[in-house]
Amino acid sequence: MSVIDLRSDTVTQPTAGMLDAMANAATGDDVYGEDPTVNRLEAELAKRLGFTEALFVPTGTMSNLLGLMAHCDRGDEYIVGQQAHTYKYEGGGAAVLGSIQPQPLEVQADGSLDLAQVAAAIKPDDFHFARTRLLALENTMQGKVLPLEYLARARRFTYENGLALHLDGARLYNAAVKLGVDAREITQHFDSVSVCLSKGLGAPIGSVLCGSAELIAKARRLRKMVGGGMRQAGILAAAGLYALDNNIQRLADDHANAQMLAEGLRAAGYEVEPVQTNMVYVQMGDKAEAIKAFAATRGIKLSAAGRLRMVTHMDVSRAQIEQVVATFVEFSRI
Ligand SMILES: *Cc1c(COP(=O)(O)O)cnc(C)c1O
Repeated sequence: MSVIDLRSDTVTQPTAGMLDAMANAATGDDVYGEDPTVNRLEAELAKRLGFTEALFVPTGTMSNLLGLMAHCDRGDEYIVGQQAHTYKYEGGGAAVLGSIQPQPLEVQADGSLDLAQVAAAIKPDDFHFARTRLLALENTMQGKVLPLEYLARARRFTYENGLALHLDGARLYNAAVKLGVDAREITQHFDSVSVCLSKGLGAPIGSVLCGSAELIAKARRLRKMVGGGMRQAGILAAAGLYALDNNIQRLADDHANAQMLAEGLRAAGYEVEPVQTNMVYVQMGDKAEAIKAFAATRGIKLSAAGRLRMVTHMDVSRAQIEQVVATFVEFSRI
């Protein structure tokens, strides 16, 4: 029985083509700046997203951390969504390692932060307060795509208020593919962007932080400090380059599969949130453990949550989505 793993888009296995690219990667010591494949990946993504420089790091968590720490000094503050990954799911790293105070705000229904609320949260220039330096957005935010018009407003807002603007773009390319625009249409509004290669793009490891030369120089120093300076990392960067060349447009298939899953579950009477990209949220209430256990008997891996998240990715086919729907139909009848 082949396993259908819907817990996350991080679970994909490298394909034969990707492994081939990794095996044949030219390498060098990247701490010395001598890994040609890492250098190529950094240059390529910086160019694609409209930045001067980029930095290859092992994880999205590190990429966000270095971005936040490059923007903010000790005692500075960043404004961020209450449900944002940087605030909620990164072990409090910005506070622990950067002494950066988070100012979380409730995320709006469309995944954005209300700029009026952000304005109200900016601290006056007074020694009682932390110095508000940065606004951090996330796109996609729990599968939702932030409107381009909102990003333009957020950019104007941060200029007017002297804040920098960071994007946790772990799933930037899901947003770009959904909107049918070049990723630059999104990233042009930001001072720094973190992109995960190991989510829907299908690389086994790796994220990239993009920004100005000055910001990336700071981030490079910080990367060494937190132990993220890797040596012959070209083997990993090759997977990232392969992903950028081969796995972006196919994200549309994941989005279509997520739509199909949502429609199938709705038809079976489940309460499913509207789907935009590759995430499907279903209200399972107190049946979270039961559906997880039942699905496991059919080879389907789910998280256990009342608001159950299922994520489509390159290792889940359309036929497998039909199997998942059938399993939920079966579950609803017992
Ligand atoms: C996965 C994820 C990250 C962090 O990536 P890791 O590589 O797991 O550390 C950051 N932000 C968002 C929105 C993510 O989904």
